[in-house]
Amino acid sequence: MDFKALTAHAKEYGFIYQSSEIYDGLAAAYDYGPNGVLLKNNLKEYWWRSMVQLHDNIVGIDAAIFMHPKTWKASGHVDAFNDPLIDNKDSQKRYRADVLVEDYIDKVEGKLNKEIAKAQKRFGEAFDETEYRRTNANVLRYQGQMDDAAGKLATAMTDGNMEALRQLIEDLDISEPDTGSKNWTEVRQFNLMFSTQLGNIAGEEGKLYLRPETAQGIFVNFTNVRNTTRQKLPFGIAQIGKAFRNEIVARQFIFRMREFEQMEMQFFIQPGTQQEWYEKWKEARLKWHLALHPQEKLRFHDHDNLAHYADAAVDIQFEFPFGFKELEGIHSRTDFDLTAHQELSGKKLQYFDPEREESYVPYVVETSIGADRLFLAALTHALREEQVPGQDDPKNTRTVLALHPAIAPIKAAIMPLKRNNDELVSLAKRIFDDLRFHFEVQYDDTGSIGKLYRRQDAVGTPFCITVDFDSLDDNTVTVRDRDTLEQVRVRVEDLVGMIGPKVDMVSLLRSAQ
Ligand code: ATP
Repeated sequence: MDFKALTAHAKEYGFIYQSSEIYDGLAAAYDYGPNGVLLKNNLKEYWWRSMVQLHDNIVGIDAAIFMHPKTWKASGHVDAFNDPLIDNKDSQKRYRADVLVEDYIDKVEGKLNKEIAKAQKRFGEAFDETEYRRTNANVLRYQGQMDDAAGKLATAMTDGNMEALRQLIEDLDISEPDTGSKNWTEVRQFNLMFSTQLGNIAGEEGKLYLRPETAQGIFVNFTNVRNTTRQKLPFGIAQIGKAFRNEIVARQFIFRMREFEQMEMQFFIQPGTQQEWYEKWKEARLKWHLALHPQEKLRFHDHDNLAHYADAAVDIQFEFPFGFKELEGIHSRTDFDLTAHQELSGKKLQYFDPEREESYVPYVVETSIGADRLFLAALTHALREEQVPGQDDPKNTRTVLALHPAIAPIKAAIMPLKRNNDELVSLAKRIFDDLRFHFEVQYDDTGSIGKLYRRQDAVGTPFCITVDFDSLDDNTVTVRDRDTLEQVRVRVEDLVGMIGPKVDMVSLLRSAQ
């Protein structure tokens, strides 16, 4: 399904609305509707339970969004949380200079892939891709262009050299995507933190930031959590919460927002063990994603330029409709944050290691994922227009949101075959009133059964329960499966036992272990 249709579907079915739409909306801010909030809560629950509930050595916190302003000085965000900004003088549009170069690289990669696909078609079975990549002149030229641009971008970004970045855009002959204009301004650093002002203190002293990441709430609470939980290294602290970034270009729906939600876990370890834990968390996080989405939708992407705090970093990328893009980051943050907070606060942030009989500042490996990006990944993967299973006519299609049942907003819908029959309605409502204690259910009698089925397919409800005239005699109902469309008769008293295990999180959590 194309991206425009997807955003329209998300609105029509109560997943996502533009923020303050009646005032023509606010760019890069979105509201989750009745189905959206259920889906998002389920995704957060999946993350929280697999991190906190299933690890003896990971505990959770919920820190305030506002933090002492010194936090952001220590963390490096005041000085270095910048994106390189460039304006096009003709179109007056603003871009991220690094993203312009990345888009250029993606374009060349597209050409390279086309070349490979063409050769594959031409040579058929006998095609040796590795050999072709090693020898074909066009492929080598494209690869060279990509490597050269990526290398120069990484150097310019690591050095914070905005002139070199500007030169690179010129050398690569990059033009404005909409107008083709190459009339660019200089590249400037732009700090992404939103600031606000405390009411009772004037001037710089009262300046507060909206946190651009949840991680710092964890670092400053390291000693508190250690003292309350008596955890020994290695141990982790997990948190889900809002973060704010004044993104220069906010595009692609909920992929890049100015207010979003992060799910972060900081894992505190002995210095020297970071490589081992980095590898372990890479593997664990990929497995967690694979429980929801197929392998071909996911890939690792090593960072070319490392953030100021990291000694190794990788993204788990997801294939969104606009290409493979970052969904989660795994970063080896060394002792950068704790040491910086220790220095600026004057408070010790150390761990006494009883085995080594010494105190030290722990190292940290973090996993950081955006709840909204995960939501978008789930939506784009699950939403499809397909031929109705079991029907031969290709024109017979339906829109279905094939979400994993454990994250589906509504687990079952209960509907009477006829809405004007009191007996059917009253039995259906009795079933609904019982099932709602067990999982999220919906009662619906506002249309024909066929129409109600289609509505539930479109929001991803795994089961539809229909109460018909036989139900009144034998206390059984029809249960329709969203994916196979198979219908089975089930005794009313068996519904919880049949549907419950299929829609709860146990099997999803187990397959992620
Ligand atoms: P990007 O390169 O896309 O700007 P980032 O590398 O700055 O992302 P991190 O600082 O590693 O992102 O943040 C961790 C996670 O938070 C990301 O993997 C992403 O899922 C999420 N995230 C970051 N920025 C945004 C945003 N503006 N909107 C939605 N989610 C975001």
